Amino acid sequence: MSERHDVLIVGGGLVGASLAIALHGHGRDVALLEATAGDSLPAVFDQRNLSFAAATVNALTALGVMQKLVSPPGPITRIHVSRAGDFGRVQLAAADYDRPYFGQVVVARDFGNALEARLQELPVVRRYRPMRFVGLGEVVDGYRQVRVADADGERTLQARLVVGADGTRSGVRQALGIAVDTHDFQQTLLVARLRSQRAPDGTAWERFTDNGPTALLPRGDRHYGVVHGVPGDQAEAVLALDDAAWLQRLQQAIGWRAGRLLGSGPRSAYPLRQVLAQDVVGQRAVLLGNAAQTIHPLGAQGFNLGLRDALTLAELLEPAGDAGADALLQAYVQRRAEDRRQTIAFSGGLARLTSNAAPLLRPLRSLGLLATQAPAVQSLLVGGAMGFRGDVPRLCRGVAA
Ligand SMILES: Cc1cc2nc3c(=O)[nH]c(=O)nc-3n(C[C@H](O)[C@H](O)[C@H](O)COP(=O)(O)OP(=O)(O)OC[C@H]3O[C@@H](n4cnc5c(N)ncnc54)[C@H](O)[C@@H]3O)c2cc1C
Repeated sequence: MSERHDVLIVGGGLVGASLAIALHGHGRDVALLEATAGDSLPAVFDQRNLSFAAATVNALTALGVMQKLVSPPGPITRIHVSRAGDFGRVQLAAADYDRPYFGQVVVARDFGNALEARLQELPVVRRYRPMRFVGLGEVVDGYRQVRVADADGERTLQARLVVGADGTRSGVRQALGIAVDTHDFQQTLLVARLRSQRAPDGTAWERFTDNGPTALLPRGDRHYGVVHGVPGDQAEAVLALDDAAWLQRLQQAIGWRAGRLLGSGPRSAYPLRQVLAQDVVGQRAVLLGNAAQTIHPLGAQGFNLGLRDALTLAELLEPAGDAGADALLQAYVQRRAEDRRQTIAFSGGLARLTSNAAPLLRPLRSLGLLATQAPAVQSLLVGGAMGFRGDVPRLCRGVAA
């Protein structure tokens, strides 16, 4: 079998697998390379709760992925944001914006299984797994040389276009010599599944304190997904709490809005860093998703943004022609610039607004919350959170492929 491809996607995580599915039917020779063995999901498909923006739900439905979810997703129909020691609060209802929901909550592991089930139906995508990306070589006859390795050793694949969808520590990005700007939030997010006296009713509860944010997301399985931010140097101690003390801590942070918290699943911890690539294209190469920008998860934007990267690239690859042409890559950069800039600013701003404990910033944070109550600002915020920002890919608008 030929090891020359139009598009070689490095990384079969959330964004890479979605891109492979979106490229189906384009008449391109597509390959998907993943380091994890074929009989297991990549580690990123774990117990984290992903909030899919409405635009993401539209696109994943058009791509036939939402239909493959075994557990039902949890629709977010209302958002309630409040701050400890502050009378201001923001309450948003999707119905006020003529929408059935702002987004849907899906467990990453379920999503990984759904992507895999859909990929199995599209055997035209060539899979290389387990196989590791090692490095990039020259361009020969319009094909970028790509060094890869598996148990049999190293060899070279060729592609018109190499897509780096290989996550925060992207090897493709390094091989292209693209530098990054990083910021350590000195915060760790703890994530778990919670059972409460009151089953979720579609409300996402978000509560900010000087120690960090806490959110309860309504899952589709009558549980909540909790996201609890703690200062990085306290993460070990909070992880070590027994279940009763952990539940008490969460109850204190979130209050009684969702009733008494009764039980918790295992906790996972994610130290938070922002990593932004200074460029997202190179010769016959492009970076998508976390490889291009890893942002604070609080705004629940990372995958939503990465999917829009993937769908925009898929649209540009729809007409026939050289998949790695310079003009195509420049068009990609242009089309992604606005959404990328705004979403990074939104997520970074939200993280700063909610995690900085400096007392002098307190009034500013309150004002920030108040500002979100002004209708114009609110609808901007809602539009962004739902994923309709910048030059929106067609599938996000609910237009079938
Ligand atoms: C706690 C938490 C909660 C989050 N919640 C949300 C949310 O609610 N909404 C949202 O939109 N986003 C959320 N995110 C962000 C989301 O998880 C990321 O944006 C998403 O995982 C990025 O996908 P990706 O495909 O770019 O990278 P990844 O998912 O990291 O995938 C990279 C893939 O590349 C593979 N790989 C790496 N190196 C190599 C190599 N050398 N060779 C071959 N394969 C390789 C890896 O095995 C992996 O499968 C959250 C993140 C966290 C940490």
